[in-house]
Amino acid sequence: MAKKKKEFEIRWKTDLPYKYSMGKLSVKFFKVLKEERKFFGSKCPQCGKVNFPPRAVCAECIIEMTVDDMVEVPSVGTLVGFTVVNYPFVDPQTGGMRPFPYGYGLFQLDGVDTYTMHFINEKDVNKMKIGQRVRAVFKDEMEGNLGDIPYFDIIKEE
Ligand SMILES: [Zn+2]
Repeated sequence: MAKKKKEFEIRWKTDLPYKYSMGKLSVKFFKVLKEERKFFGSKCPQCGKVNFPPRAVCAECIIEMTVDDMVEVPSVGTLVGFTVVNYPFVDPQTGGMRPFPYGYGLFQLDGVDTYTMHFINEKDVNKMKIGQRVRAVFKDEMEGNLGDIPYFDIIKEE
């Protein structure tokens, strides 16, 4: 029987203060989200593609976009991919472990050319399918951050 190797361990906590510059487009995105409960993307003035969330540079044309290129986009779209997470995971919004299982989806908002990922309010993978319509759900008290959109709901067909 092999002798068990004793592990050596040092524990400490480190502060990592930093500032994140959101840029003008993200500032407008979160301001409008908080104050008007609306989504804004960025529309390339050259090719016309709409990005959501807004991007400062069009990935196709490699040209810069400004706040003037931002357009309102609907908070409804179509599910194009999904999963149900059954594994403990640190929630970057809280720093704590996120309760699981939870649904996570890839979807395309109406009139938008890019895809977005976010939480889906469905834990049963058998109740999710490509092509389902989804709608953003907003918190009652908006704070101007991603937590304002806890999840997207699958719109039930009548
Ligand atoms: Zn473009």
